[in-house]
Amino acid sequence: MTVSLDIAKPDAGSIPLEKTALETYVAPAKPSLIGLSRAQLAEALGAVGVKPAQQKMRAQQLWHWMYVRGVTRFDQMTSVSKELQATLDQHYTLARPEVVAEQVSVDGTRKWLLRLPSGLQGERAHEVECVYIPESDRGTLCVSSQVGCTLNCSFCHTGTQRLVRNLTPGEIVGQVMVARDRLGDFIGMERAQGPGLPTAGERCVSNIVMMGMGEPLYNFEGVRDALLIVSDGDGLSISKRRITLSTSGVVPNIQRAGDEIGVMLAISLHAVRDDLRDELVPLNRKYPIKELLEACRNYPGASNSKRITFEYVMLKGVNDSLADAKKLVQLLKGIPAKINLIPFNPWPGSKYECSDWEQIEKFSEIVFNAGYASPVRTPRGRDILAACGQLKSETEKLSARERMALRAMAMTD
Ligand code: SAH
Ligand code: SF4
Repeated sequence: MTVSLDIAKPDAGSIPLEKTALETYVAPAKPSLIGLSRAQLAEALGAVGVKPAQQKMRAQQLWHWMYVRGVTRFDQMTSVSKELQATLDQHYTLARPEVVAEQVSVDGTRKWLLRLPSGLQGERAHEVECVYIPESDRGTLCVSSQVGCTLNCSFCHTGTQRLVRNLTPGEIVGQVMVARDRLGDFIGMERAQGPGLPTAGERCVSNIVMMGMGEPLYNFEGVRDALLIVSDGDGLSISKRRITLSTSGVVPNIQRAGDEIGVMLAISLHAVRDDLRDELVPLNRKYPIKELLEACRNYPGASNSKRITFEYVMLKGVNDSLADAKKLVQLLKGIPAKINLIPFNPWPGSKYECSDWEQIEKFSEIVFNAGYASPVRTPRGRDILAACGQLKSETEKLSARERMALRAMAMTD
């Protein structure tokens, strides 16, 4: 009898392409109105007796109170009759995701740990993080699209998380609401003061990056509906040019994102050869580099003034050779592109190291000489990232550390 021992080699083939999302979200009995489209809001009003002829006007009123003024209670909506305020209060809330911890870094970076309902009895609560990165003239909010991620990029700790669920539009918009609440960033509120907060510009939260947990293009409808609310000019009013959606390369949804959402696009490229990208970003086995770049060439609205950002995580001895840099600029020829080099943020158990600073400089020089600005994104909020493991209980330490890795991208140009 022969016994064959199947020892798994850590090659690209052994990394599963994706896991299945568990849709365990159950809406609360008294749902929040945050995250409904105008039409859904009108419907919700109809459901509590507002007459059809009045629904559109009332929805517009509520929209203003919710997204321009940021009220958290119906009795603050002074242009709405007391009677309707009471009816609304009986059936709905204006709840945002629950903030279970807030940390403020010495450089002004703020991080909120949010607890979301899981829907299943006995299942632990779902948690995501949302990070605010202020600069002198703007403030960027890094928003999550999923709890965990169905994909398994080998350098990303979110990929190792087992639990995955799509966030609802309300939970995505809710992250922006939480940030505005905490920063006093709604009209009529007193703006938060503190080191690092923007002193120029109208708003504390002026930019959004969909670069937190999750693959936004695998929660297409949720992200689309949320971003349409966030960019609505009569509400939160963050221009689509100031919103960037980062994807690992879900090719069929790239065109859709351009057509139906119309925000700025960032691609997590990270490798210039398919064999290496298959390993780093296993989704590449489904949508290889050539197809991905073709989708970028056809991205609706891409132009010199609306460039696509290519993210490239610097992994020592893996993807950081000067030949890689040359191939990178060759590959991107003809695409209106920006290149972001990201220092790898290691996590316990990760098999990569960050490239040496010298190598990053040489790499970025090649990129720069080819005509691309290649800002290396400086990690921000290091002090609170280091403390991030303390946000959650002992048993959950790993996933807390995982979020620390995630915050590698809590960086801006
Ligand atoms: N899923 C999307 C968006 C979230 S990840 C995507 O992959 O694009 C946002 C960015 O952070 C991606 O470019 C991702 O590759 C990068 N990233 C993930 N883990 C990292 C780490 N440990 N160090 C540096 N960058 C990381
Ligand atoms: Fe998911 Fe993005 Fe992490 Fe890949 S890099 S596992 S797509 S969150």
